[in-house]
Amino acid sequence: MRCLVVGSRCAVSTLDDRFHTVSTVSTTDAIQPHVVTVDDVDDAGFLLQAIDLAEQARASGDHPFGAVLVGRSGTVVGSGLNTVVTDRDPTGHAETNLVRTVGGRISRADLSTMTMYASTEPCAMCAGAIYWAGIGAVVYALAESELRQLAGADPANPVLDLPCREVFARGVREIEVRGPVDLPKAREVHAGFWSR
Ligand SMILES: [Zn+2]
Repeated sequence: MRCLVVGSRCAVSTLDDRFHTVSTVSTTDAIQPHVVTVDDVDDAGFLLQAIDLAEQARASGDHPFGAVLVGRSGTVVGSGLNTVVTDRDPTGHAETNLVRTVGGRISRADLSTMTMYASTEPCAMCAGAIYWAGIGAVVYALAESELRQLAGADPANPVLDLPCREVFARGVREIEVRGPVDLPKAREVHAGFWSR
């Protein structure tokens, strides 16, 4: 969804607006990122929870990524962190792990009303998992393009810099996307981790 700036606020930032459909947004609009600041959004708390999970993953020897899933009432209904190293699973990304844990216990209808908050923009694989799960919205802090600058071609995580908006734009249902959200902690959790 393209953000409509009203004064200093983002028109999609309030809880009431969080689940607006985007059926009237063109594909061109849908893939245009709109950089929002912390002051713009009510989402910072959930993003900070996702970043906390990224810190936990890093402390466990995994890659510094985390995600939480939030229901319409503002309740966290699930969380995930990266387990690529500890599970020896190259698909053990935070968002995909989270989809695996909620897919069997939350209906698709309910998932369509929920928002995934991710410490870093979902990669193409995770965007696919979010799409197939039927989750309604995504909010992320650090952009994949910035992760590329931080991680470069580190063989542990060769970044696939494909914006999640571009993945979702190829689908037949709309997913609201907000991000990147400017949170310094989202950058700091990667500091000194990657060997470029
Ligand atoms: Zn991923």
